[in-house]
Amino acid sequence: MRVTAIIAAGGRGLRFGGLRPKQLLNIDGRPILERSVALFLDHPDVDDLVVALPADLAADPPPYLRAAPKPIRVVAGGVRRQDSVANAFQVTSGDSVVVVIHDAARPFASADLVSRTIAAAIESGAALAGLPASDTVKRTDDRMVLETLPRESIYLAQTPQAFRREVLRDALALGEAAADATDEASLAERAGHPVRVVEGEAGNIKITRPEDLAMAEAIARRSAKAERRASMRIGTGYDLHVLVEGRPLILGGVRIAFERGLLGHSDADVVCHAATDAILGAVGAGDIGRHFPDTDPKWKDASSVDFLRRAASIVREAGFEVSNVDLVVIAERPKLWPFVDAMRTNLAEALGIATDAVSIKGKTNEGVDATGRGEAIACHAVALLTNFQS
Ligand code: MG
Repeated sequence: MRVTAIIAAGGRGLRFGGLRPKQLLNIDGRPILERSVALFLDHPDVDDLVVALPADLAADPPPYLRAAPKPIRVVAGGVRRQDSVANAFQVTSGDSVVVVIHDAARPFASADLVSRTIAAAIESGAALAGLPASDTVKRTDDRMVLETLPRESIYLAQTPQAFRREVLRDALALGEAAADATDEASLAERAGHPVRVVEGEAGNIKITRPEDLAMAEAIARRSAKAERRASMRIGTGYDLHVLVEGRPLILGGVRIAFERGLLGHSDADVVCHAATDAILGAVGAGDIGRHFPDTDPKWKDASSVDFLRRAASIVREAGFEVSNVDLVVIAERPKLWPFVDAMRTNLAEALGIATDAVSIKGKTNEGVDATGRGEAIACHAVALLTNFQS
């Protein structure tokens, strides 16, 4: 089912007084409009977007509206909000079953709120996010109270607001005919369609006045911090060394009795080399050759467990912890399983993590190619890293 998002950004934000439209102001280094657009670009239920901008901006839209992972059309807004939405609706594809409208000035709506609003519109025809009133509400005339409204029945309308296509068409036709409205849901309501309220979010603030910017900054910083805390990185590593006579065989820091050993500048421990590349790769810190070049006599016959230990401190300095590593060692001979636990212990110690966060599996190559003929031993590694910086 095709779902189109309309971002209403046609206003100039006159209450801000500045020269630039408020939707282009930065919050924590990122424009309000870009944040609101990203909510729908990243949303799995949304197929394409239409953004209504003031005419001068629509003629020269910011770069993040030009190259995006989903189709974005930009239209010039109208005099009233509903005119901007009507212009945007005109260019939506006829096979968009649901249209979800959002104010650019509400960059903090959650993806979950968008999902719930779309789902409710599919079921009921029209739906909006609404925040239950927490204050007592008075209806007045000339500052004299006429009545106190039952608070339980009061919801403060937010966006997103979502509509089945034909419902929005009716609503906008009514809006064109005359009726002025501050949101599309009230037009749908006046056009006689049922409109459902889904529970909105207190954090889904509308940036209307200059003083709202301070709160918006605080919200943006808090969520950026939460994102950083949750960030994970993955890295992959691979290594192969040739088996020759007259060298010791060292795998995962374990010296294994065998008639041949791996050839290399260091101890040629493919297990540690692959693991080292995986964790360096996860933080974009290059590879083992960059940090421990085989042209440097310092690393001649060095223990590769040391490389891994040093790489672990490089990734810690970058703010990451290794969560786990998983390795596949490809060796026709010798059998590796008797040594696997000792290798895991060595790697865990070098990485500063628990032994059960290190997995090593031995494989043969079924006699095929160089490793299968027993001429070399290879290793594949993946590592998951987590950033716990605040
Ligand atoms: Mg190597």
